[in-house]
Amino acid sequence: MKNDRNNAGLSKSDFDKIIDGKAVSLFTLENDKGAEVSITNYGGKVVSLLVPGKDNQMVDVVTGYDSIGGYLNSGEIYFGAAIGRYGNRIAKGEFSIDGVDYKLEQNNGPNSLHGGSGGFHAVVWDAKQTHKSTLELTYLSEDMEEGFPGNLNVKIVYKLNNDNQLVIDYFATTDKKTLCNLTNHTYFNLSGEGAETILDHVLKLDASHYTPTDDTAIPTGEIKEVKGTPMDFTNEKSIGSQIDEDFIDLKLGNGYDHNFVLDKKKKGVEKLGYIFSPLTNIQMDFYSDQPGVQLYTGNFMDGSQIGKKGKAYLRRSAFCLEAQYFPDSPNNPEFPSTILEPGEEYRQTTIYGFSFHE
Ligand code: BGC
Repeated sequence: MKNDRNNAGLSKSDFDKIIDGKAVSLFTLENDKGAEVSITNYGGKVVSLLVPGKDNQMVDVVTGYDSIGGYLNSGEIYFGAAIGRYGNRIAKGEFSIDGVDYKLEQNNGPNSLHGGSGGFHAVVWDAKQTHKSTLELTYLSEDMEEGFPGNLNVKIVYKLNNDNQLVIDYFATTDKKTLCNLTNHTYFNLSGEGAETILDHVLKLDASHYTPTDDTAIPTGEIKEVKGTPMDFTNEKSIGSQIDEDFIDLKLGNGYDHNFVLDKKKKGVEKLGYIFSPLTNIQMDFYSDQPGVQLYTGNFMDGSQIGKKGKAYLRRSAFCLEAQYFPDSPNNPEFPSTILEPGEEYRQTTIYGFSFHE
């Protein structure tokens, strides 16, 4: 039994490794309420997140692996990850800026997904734990790395505050006009990671529109009303209640794997939904300042991934709420722009807040 285990049972020494000449480790943040999050600077991945459950028992609500080897050998490379430079897809891996064409890796069928195979989920970030509850990760993504122009300086700050909120703040600047669309890809199960399903989770999402896609998950350009369709979560509904309906977009997505257009009431960060497990009553509130969010219901999970404590992660045993600009925005000029110019600062804040469903 190692004596450096955190409350989630993870051992820092199981994450200590040199990758690409840089030190990788595990950082454990805690607040004054007994909540705990651990994050590795390999891909900025959230490895565990303990929040209070019934009788103040702590429940780990995110999927992950218990060693760095688990992450390096995994078929599921996005568990918990920081995603960039471009979250979600760019059609055929092609875009242009000011008449110059750029070509990205096509790592997802004909398209580019999550910044390419060497995206921010697969790099070693510089890490500084500035407080017991705060971790700062920084990374310089060099000009033309993964095909994107401009040196992009990125900082992500993870903070576990005393309201049991995991606050993720993003900052980025560039020296050349580029694309920037960062997100976090944590897979949650509010019944406890490794629990069989999230189909019973009840979701409310303030999104009266979504962006339908073609059969390669690229938006058609249409912004469609959710009303009268299984995409409607504007009133509480369990994720499973309509997921297998004979509805074209659900068939194409293999379940929910769509960008929802958030009904923002103001410019900054606001609460835009919540989700809870009827089993544990653990509720997660979702706050964002982004125009969209990808709801992904773990449709491609298949039980072959063996996670923490030897648990197999079954199909639809986790969900993601990835705050973002819309997929393929660079090729849809009518979508909010993901261009970042020199002299500007990219900012993004996502908050996942935990409480009990009343
Ligand atoms: C995508 C899914 C993909 C998943 C990978 C999501 O953001 O939309 O299609 O399978 O990431 O974990």
